[in-house]
Amino acid sequence: MKDNTDQKTSRDAAWRVELREAITARERTSIPRATMPMLDAAARVHNNEEVNRGLDAVQAVTEATRCLDCPDPQCVTGCPVGIDIPGFIKNIQRGDFAAAASVLRATSALPAVCGRVCPQEKQCESRCLYNKMKKPAVAIGWLERFAADTERLSGRRAPVEKAPRRNIKIAIAGSGPAGLACAGDMIKLGYDVTVFEALHEIGGVLKYGIPEFRLPNAVVDAELDSLRQLGVEFRKDCVIGRTLSYEDLLNEGFRAVFVASGAGLPRFMGIPGENLIGVMSSNEYLTRINLMGAGRGGMTPVCTGRRVAVVGGGNTAMDSVRTARRMGAERAMIVYRRSEAEMPARAEEVAHAKEEGVEFLTLCNPIEYRGDERGHVRSMIVQRMELGEPGPDGRRSPVAIPGATDEIEVDEVIVSVGVSPNPLIPDSIAGLEVSRRGTITVNDDMQSSIPAIFAGGDIVRGGATVILAMGDGRKAAAAIHHYLSTGM
Ligand SMILES: Cc1cc2nc3c(=O)[nH]c(=O)nc-3n(C[C@H](O)[C@H](O)[C@H](O)COP(=O)(O)OP(=O)(O)OC[C@H]3O[C@@H](n4cnc5c(N)ncnc54)[C@H](O)[C@@H]3O)c2cc1C
Ligand code: SF4
Repeated sequence: MKDNTDQKTSRDAAWRVELREAITARERTSIPRATMPMLDAAARVHNNEEVNRGLDAVQAVTEATRCLDCPDPQCVTGCPVGIDIPGFIKNIQRGDFAAAASVLRATSALPAVCGRVCPQEKQCESRCLYNKMKKPAVAIGWLERFAADTERLSGRRAPVEKAPRRNIKIAIAGSGPAGLACAGDMIKLGYDVTVFEALHEIGGVLKYGIPEFRLPNAVVDAELDSLRQLGVEFRKDCVIGRTLSYEDLLNEGFRAVFVASGAGLPRFMGIPGENLIGVMSSNEYLTRINLMGAGRGGMTPVCTGRRVAVVGGGNTAMDSVRTARRMGAERAMIVYRRSEAEMPARAEEVAHAKEEGVEFLTLCNPIEYRGDERGHVRSMIVQRMELGEPGPDGRRSPVAIPGATDEIEVDEVIVSVGVSPNPLIPDSIAGLEVSRRGTITVNDDMQSSIPAIFAGGDIVRGGATVILAMGDGRKAAAAIHHYLSTGM
């Protein structure tokens, strides 16, 4: 006899067969894709409220009905952690939203977060069968968010099974998605888990980087609360490698350490004028505003320019430029050296930025910033570019057009051209192997050159995604459990 979980997810379960037979494929595929309810662009640039409001139950059930419950669902192969996508979607279609959430939780530690920030259009949705029919993919991300939000708002999360306490202490350095996912799995396995966080807030980039208009803090806080309820201890304002060394952790009785300290070291371009007042990294800009409340009565100041240029084309650049609009910038510009087609940011973020009046200066590369007599940035010189041959990553490389430069007036420049791994922990532990890029070197089980130290997320990948960081955290938890159980 199949167990209860199987009955909730198995494609052969009677209820699921019935759902498949209730309506023809032709009828399913003629249902239009749901439209996400959104805040009006003109109004939302004056507040920090979440832009996407989420599907309601009727919309979600209708969207779930579009899913064909494929026998070999390619959407699952596009998910970095292999979520049982048709399994959760069909539970939404039959109205069992709690079961849908528990299917998600079996694989994803933070479904409400991933439903909001994962690049589904490049992952699961890009493999959905609907693409082959030249129709818009099933809105998998919006359905994930719906199931997770419905569970959170109901206040009735399915009870978590926890192994008996082992009295073995595990330390986790960093409280971003990698650290939180590892903490969740380790506590369920019966370990005593302490997460050490350098900042005064838990959540990593989910709190200090991604703005509330895309990921409300309340969503992250709900996940933190459930980890606390399970017994995870959080120690804030504690910098591993400075406040406490690896040896201190061993002396405190921690038997293994998971390093999840992220990639928060901003990169600059090394061009003249980067030291002018008003030029800063996106990391500094977003941290001051999101974490320290700058511009909203917080104690931290931040420049608020009238003409703000954000250099870069990734998610961080979009978050910065949309934040600048909300901080009152009259002219908020993305300055990007390739064309829009090569932008790494999510298509949805680019569309939202445009709706909010952001200007896109593509094929433009800053080569110098100029300041006034008080050392404040006043303009930027940009080199006009054209696209050349594709580089090793398949993207066409930008090539300077000789003699084609422009001067653009700016009061503030936010540099968002990439990040490097935080070096503090790697630098503080003798014998810990790191790559030339400064990432911690790990084997397939996320184990470093020191057997008791595991690592994952951006400190290993050097700037990736939430779902990959979370997947690393879960993989590391299984490997730490194996290591502590077998000594290998
Ligand atoms: C602005 C922005 C927007 C993004 N948008 C998206 C998106 O839409 N979708 C997506 O999938 N990804 C996005 N990303 C990338 C994603 O957020 C990261 O890949 C992910 O957060 C990495 O998780 P992590 O746990 O490895 O590290 P982080 O989230 O960076 O967390 C690391 C934590 O470790 C702490 N720490 C560092 N050093 C120490 C130390 N020595 N001791 C103790 N604690 C320490 C840090 O303070 C931090 O809290 C975005 C990133 C940024 C910056
Ligand atoms: S590929 Fe698309 S239609 Fe098929 S199971 Fe996945 S979401 Fe449903």
